[in-house]
Amino acid sequence: MPNRRNVYLFYKKSEELLEKIQPLHKLAAEHDFKLVNTMQEANIIVAVGGDGTFLQAVRQSGFRDDCLYAGISTSSDPSFYCDFHIDDTAKMLEAMTTESIEVRRFPVIDVTVNNSHSFYCLNECSIRSTLIKTFEMDVYINDLHFETFRGDGMIISTPTGSTAYNKSVSGAVVDPLLPCMQVSEIASLNNNTYRTLGSSFILSNAHTLTLKLINDDNHYPTIGMDNEASGVRHVEELSIRLSDRQIKTVKLKDNSFWRRVQRTFL
Ligand code: NAP
Ligand code: MN
Repeated sequence: MPNRRNVYLFYKKSEELLEKIQPLHKLAAEHDFKLVNTMQEANIIVAVGGDGTFLQAVRQSGFRDDCLYAGISTSSDPSFYCDFHIDDTAKMLEAMTTESIEVRRFPVIDVTVNNSHSFYCLNECSIRSTLIKTFEMDVYINDLHFETFRGDGMIISTPTGSTAYNKSVSGAVVDPLLPCMQVSEIASLNNNTYRTLGSSFILSNAHTLTLKLINDDNHYPTIGMDNEASGVRHVEELSIRLSDRQIKTVKLKDNSFWRRVQRTFL
């Protein structure tokens, strides 16, 4: 990685982790990488923890498209966004000293709430009832009124997010080389009055999904942006599309998306 030398380490500052990352400081110094104190100065942002930490590193740094993100896992479980393991410094060293590192790009979705407030998501945007009650919304694909949903909520996931929340509600696992987003229901009511598609569906980057809440009792669902709740309290309309932005990670041999899927689930 000849042109990228400023590294920011993103991790939860616990005593245990502080100790675990000591070898990374040494490794960086030995190979002429500079550990910087802010994410803005960095052109490589390294999340140390798990997928949850990686999602936070990307969010807190503003979904930058001018830096490389890398994940280092600290647990023995396989992780989707973490290509490295904290104990495997040889693999990190190999990536650090490779002249022309290959880059992998992950699609991100763009969400606008109430036509005013926008944010990105790397895993998914979720909308979920916060009460022991269903809520209703009209679902539009562009200007087509597609269905009226009533139930617990919906998950709009990216390809890399397809193995997370989306998979728990029987959504399909999607190849991240496909620029698309998947819409999955969470417990829809389906009867003679309410009818929804019932299966997940996948939209290309040509389409915008709009969810218009039908709010008859002042009950507002919660919006999840990856592992964080959005601060917008009175959500009336959500508009979601694939972003032009993508985030970049290091591409390693023997760690393709489908290998990770196999390792994690099969
Ligand atoms: P968490 O509740 O600790 O995460 C749930 C699990 O999902 C963790 O094992 C996490 O891995 C894993 N994960 C995260 N992103 C993934 C991905 N792209 N592919 C496969 N597994 C993934 O919360 P978190 O760690 O902050 O992760 C946030 C994500 O959890 C959300 O974006 C959502 O997708 C997912 N989630 C799932 C459910 C569900 O399945 N019922 C409900 C809520 C949220 P690590 O242990 O490496 O962090
Ligand atoms: Mn986690």
